[in-house]
Amino acid sequence: MFDVIVIGAGVSGASFANKISKYAKTLLIEAQDYETEIPIRTNIFPEHNRPFIQNEIDWENSSIFPCKHTKSNYMSDEFNGVIDSTEFGIPLGNICYTENLIGELINQFEQQGGNFNSNERISKINRHSDHLELINAKGVSYSTKLLILATGSRGFDLQRSLGFEIPDHYTGTYLHLFGDENKINENIEWNYTFHINPKISWNGPFFFNKGKERISAGFLGEKNQSKEEIISKLERILKNYKPIQPFIEGLKYNLSSAVVGDISKHPIKRFSNDRVLVLGEAAGIVTAFFYEGLLPGVACADIATNTLKALLEKGSNFSRSELQKYDQEVRRILMPYFKNGNALEYLIYNEGSYVKSLWRLYTELLNENKLARKYIYEAYINHDLANHNTSNDRYVGEKWFGKLPVLSKITLSPRFFKAMLL
Ligand SMILES: Cc1cc2nc3c(=O)[nH]c(=O)nc-3n(C[C@H](O)[C@H](O)[C@H](O)COP(=O)(O)OP(=O)(O)OC[C@H]3O[C@@H](n4cnc5c(N)ncnc54)[C@H](O)[C@@H]3O)c2cc1C
Repeated sequence: MFDVIVIGAGVSGASFANKISKYAKTLLIEAQDYETEIPIRTNIFPEHNRPFIQNEIDWENSSIFPCKHTKSNYMSDEFNGVIDSTEFGIPLGNICYTENLIGELINQFEQQGGNFNSNERISKINRHSDHLELINAKGVSYSTKLLILATGSRGFDLQRSLGFEIPDHYTGTYLHLFGDENKINENIEWNYTFHINPKISWNGPFFFNKGKERISAGFLGEKNQSKEEIISKLERILKNYKPIQPFIEGLKYNLSSAVVGDISKHPIKRFSNDRVLVLGEAAGIVTAFFYEGLLPGVACADIATNTLKALLEKGSNFSRSELQKYDQEVRRILMPYFKNGNALEYLIYNEGSYVKSLWRLYTELLNENKLARKYIYEAYINHDLANHNTSNDRYVGEKWFGKLPVLSKITLSPRFFKAMLL
């Protein structure tokens, strides 16, 4: 019998397993074959993530964090709205080679006595009064006092079978482009490029995350969009979309390496039930506009560990009422920051004919208004997200609204008003 079994070794599951294995007999199970390779991912890892992993991961570890993130470009068809951290102070965060982050978390977990099974899919879970029984695809079963679902957007059936809701989810795709470090720096100035064009997607950005000798590029598409459809769109964009041609010129990529998968957002109502917690993206805890999912992953892992430490010590039976503190803490710590994403999502991710010009005005605002840039910078580096200053977001919203032509002000004022209340 294990104290804790974690299903899913993405950032949420690997960082939680690492933390909890100091206090409990833990098994971490991952469906993908990590022995062969942990799939590569180049991600944005803002400074505000740091408090949740600083006990495990060295912020200066260059195999995990190959470069500092100093420049973000919020890009429209006309403007580069650049946040340059050197204007204000410390970097916005790190660029993360997420496969190395996960690898290091799992290494430490095993050194602490944790058991890791890779290439193993859990297909069924039976509830008993004093434990849960997990059965893998080959019929092998495990028992545990407590179960952690950290299955991202790939374990919805299991999640439903345990009585949890599943979050809203959209199809996304990305691939890596490779080149010499100098060539990459010549091509693209910013560590992170976030570009909105409704012709690419109504639901999300086209992005570039710049690493050292690789760039990740992709976009968030429609609900239930097929793999063929989204890859063929990615191909057309990479080949023909003029604004990005200078960024990818001379870099090598292989379309067959494009990854397609669901990405969730909008938190489900409950993150806990008797003997079960749901972490990170599986619970839909991903910011609604920027699709930040690593922050919720590491934050949920930290909050869950803090909740469980005391319960493990007193030999708890992990009832729903005891686990509820986890839900409350996740909401207290993350939701003030999430509000801004909800407002931006409401204004930009819809089929309104005004979206393109509204995004253009946002990027122009960032260009010309130092205080707006400073407030965004502060959100990136804030170590106390529970006290995220929502009046800063309101300031940016008001200045943005102020830039609208008179007629648009009249038509869009109800939208802006509602966005402020979300
Ligand atoms: C294109 C794209 C770019 C992104 N860029 C960023 C970024 O730059 N910064 C950022 O903060 N966020 C980014 N995100 C979001 C972020 O990557 C995810 O939200 C985050 O990685 C989710 O982590 P997770 O551990 O919760 O889930 P996942 O990483 O999805 O891990 C879940 C794991 O569970 C395993 N699993 C599922 N079911 C089972 C089962 N039955 N048995 C065993 N194992 C199972 C899966 O194999 C998987 O490895 C991006 C997302 C996408 C799609």
